[in-house]
Amino acid sequence: MNDMSFSQLHLSKLVLDNLAELAYEKMTAIQAQSLPHVLQNKDVIAQAKTGSGKTAAFGIGLLNKIELKNYSVQALVLCPTRELADQVTKDLRRLARFTENIKIITLCGGVAIGSQIKSLSHPAHIVVGTPGRILKHLDKNYMRIDGLKTLVLDEADRMLDMGFVEDIQKIIEFAPNKRQTLLFSATYTDEVRSLSKSIQKSAVTVATIDTESPNKITEMFYESAADLNLSHLVNIIAKEEPKNVLVFANTKIDAKEVARHLRNNGIEAAALHGDLEQYQRNDVLVKFTNGTLPVLVATDVAARGLDIKELSLVINYGLPFEHNVYTHRIGRTGRAGSTGIAVTLYWGKQAFKAKKMQNSSRQFDKASTLPKANGYILKAQNGTIVIEAGKRNKLRPGDILGALTGDVGLNGKQIGKISIYDKQSYVAIERGLINKAIKGLKQSGLKGKRFSVWIMK
Ligand code: AMP
Repeated sequence: MNDMSFSQLHLSKLVLDNLAELAYEKMTAIQAQSLPHVLQNKDVIAQAKTGSGKTAAFGIGLLNKIELKNYSVQALVLCPTRELADQVTKDLRRLARFTENIKIITLCGGVAIGSQIKSLSHPAHIVVGTPGRILKHLDKNYMRIDGLKTLVLDEADRMLDMGFVEDIQKIIEFAPNKRQTLLFSATYTDEVRSLSKSIQKSAVTVATIDTESPNKITEMFYESAADLNLSHLVNIIAKEEPKNVLVFANTKIDAKEVARHLRNNGIEAAALHGDLEQYQRNDVLVKFTNGTLPVLVATDVAARGLDIKELSLVINYGLPFEHNVYTHRIGRTGRAGSTGIAVTLYWGKQAFKAKKMQNSSRQFDKASTLPKANGYILKAQNGTIVIEAGKRNKLRPGDILGALTGDVGLNGKQIGKISIYDKQSYVAIERGLINKAIKGLKQSGLKGKRFSVWIMK
């Protein structure tokens, strides 16, 4: 399709203006291929990875059909993880920000169900969530989807990997037969195909992965001798001098061990894995996404749904067990046309699998050829402060920026990303100025009120 502008899609002026404001100048490949079908109410199975613009591909479609005066769940988006669900909700709200009185909620496991039930007492138009929790709400009749118009399965392959297939089938029993079902998946496996067959009708297949930004990711492989993996990992990071790195570990134990080793070797790193409490997980994610933690070591499950723009380097600490997982992991760097680097460190029996992955565009070498790290240090310039006030206090980034550059006396350049959550806000600030900022904010307050402020450890 040559004309990639959104205007050919017969969307309302409100929607088109909003897309222009979001700086979505033209459609991404997946949007151009899927949106015409999505908007014709067809079932679509789309192979698209995170970063391809897939959320807008289904989001624009489902929003287009919402009847605001009809207070029932009209669209349901199923996601494999809480992080992805949060991300999708955020993106949908941005796409719908000029649509007044639209209610979009997230329902995921791992949080108390009480407040979700309360929130459902006024039905939402759109629900985004993880299958287990959604099913619970349906089973207990806290929520109904008998008026559902659009069902979306986002990252369907991941949901299948995580064993959600039965929950998904059961959820669908609560939905009307006459509905649109959109299935997005990074990989197109037999399982995905069979799921599509069982829940979609005459689905249009759309695949763009191979045509998306070809060769934008440099893929390198290093074979390590046994027991030298960790020091080679440090050498890889030192060689690439990245701004930020996502290291994938195959197990929780590896993730913890890798993060510890990096910290002991001058590289600021934290592990993200299933054993963390929700607040610990949140802290790690806040720091990584606002640039105050340069290295995140994660298992695949923990990293699902992470949407980090400008990820300069992805490292596989050990070859993943499946090729699909490899594709998924490296797709996180080099997004939206920017270049990225993916380095895989492997050892022992993994060499057999690695050999099968050799092709002309991938570089293979012995890890012993890597230059030694030699005192290399990677630390974020900024640290994060936490303010005990957020959206509920009607706080906006401008309020915080104003206080910091006004009363507190910082210069705008010394302040990094400001993220406002429901009850708390996080501000990245040059490390040397953190104490000054905390003291100043405590004194000056925000919008005439004083709040607790502290440094995130
Ligand atoms: P997704 O694949 O849905 O996670 O989207 C990846 C990123 O691309 C998100 O940050 C979107 O806001 C952004 N995006 C989606 N569609 C477009 C577009 N047409 N033009 C520019 N950015 C886009």
